[in-house]
Amino acid sequence: MESIEKLGDLTGKTALVRCDLNVPLNEKGEITDDRRIRESVPTIKDLLSRGAKVIVTAHLGRPGGKADPAFSLAPVAQRLSGLLGTPVILAKDAAGEDSKKLAKDLKPGEVLLLENIRFRPEEASKDEEERMKLAKDLASMADLFVFDGFGVAHRKHASSYDVSKLLPSYMGFLVAKEEKALSRALEDPARPYTVVMGGAKVSDKLKVIVHLLDVADRILVAGGMAYTFIKASGGQIGQSLVELDMLDEARECMRIAKEKGVEFLLPKDLVAADAFSNDASSKIVDAYKVPENMMGMDVGPKTCEEFAAKIADSKTVFWNGPLGVFEFPKFAKGTRFIAQAMKKATENGAFTIIGGGDSAAAVDAFGFKDGDFSHISTGGGASLEFLKGEGLPALEGK
Ligand code: ADP
Ligand code: MG
Repeated sequence: MESIEKLGDLTGKTALVRCDLNVPLNEKGEITDDRRIRESVPTIKDLLSRGAKVIVTAHLGRPGGKADPAFSLAPVAQRLSGLLGTPVILAKDAAGEDSKKLAKDLKPGEVLLLENIRFRPEEASKDEEERMKLAKDLASMADLFVFDGFGVAHRKHASSYDVSKLLPSYMGFLVAKEEKALSRALEDPARPYTVVMGGAKVSDKLKVIVHLLDVADRILVAGGMAYTFIKASGGQIGQSLVELDMLDEARECMRIAKEKGVEFLLPKDLVAADAFSNDASSKIVDAYKVPENMMGMDVGPKTCEEFAAKIADSKTVFWNGPLGVFEFPKFAKGTRFIAQAMKKATENGAFTIIGGGDSAAAVDAFGFKDGDFSHISTGGGASLEFLKGEGLPALEGK
């Protein structure tokens, strides 16, 4: 896919832009981290400055293929408008009658945001013909397509993948930036290369770890991920998060690590709690001896020190997934500690990448600045897929 840099004047043309505006919201429906919206601004501004009319399509959360006001892009439209400094019109539907009417009346310099594209069941359908119906609705409103939603680049969805087959397609600035930074970790990374994996999506991430064993020198596993490995190694994990059907795969992963000479570290100690709550009573325990009635909620001080030392000794570090339930301040210490170690490594010349929606939100919430790390990726799954080196469907172009 070519970059939008190559585009000339777009006066009279309508550009459809797929952005990733999937931001976290609190219970009141307020945006708690607007990184993805901020990162979408340069491409939209560029297209406007070329005289284009801009239609943005995006998703929020998982409404499951039907309209649900709880997942409306209304708060996003408002924030995007503020960041762009221009009004953003929000369509009532996703590429339906209202969208098409508003698109037809759109003037150069104006921005139309279509409602949550995942309100449409076709968006994420496994059936290509189904998806194509929605892709055609989207394409009918525009002259060209710009893909800038890095966070969905690994998905074969109508608004990211199929629509690019129907219109001349280009890659936006955010996608170009992500590709450049992540390529550095994929192709000939400076060594030692350390990968820190945390978070909760055990089954998704386990497969990625196996792939990363081909490129990384060390893999440090923590967060909700770790308990499946600890149990697979014979440890007692109490009530901790676990995927029992992944135990064999976890064992196999550790065996391959050994075979390939990749250092594979699990937590040595944990902060265990008697309930999944910030008010739970907690204590530091041996990672292999979590009491039967307790669950691991964060990494302990020994693990923090060990992981930080490994990070300090690395030239490339990729970190995905919080090390604990950082949403509860009581269990945010490990995640904060690792963020601090990443910052320090960056200051000492290492190339550092943070990937993952929750991981990025965590470092933002802790008050770290973008410049504290080499790159903060807007994509969790997409950045992991990219690092596997198998390409991303949405970037294939036509
Ligand atoms: P990312 O979005 O950065 O890729 P994930 O979505 O995989 O990360 O996981 C983030 C979630 O993992 C957070 O909500 C966090 O609370 C949870 N988590 C981290 N450690 C644990 C743990 N020990 N037990 C349960 N959940 C955890
Ligand atoms: Mg997440």
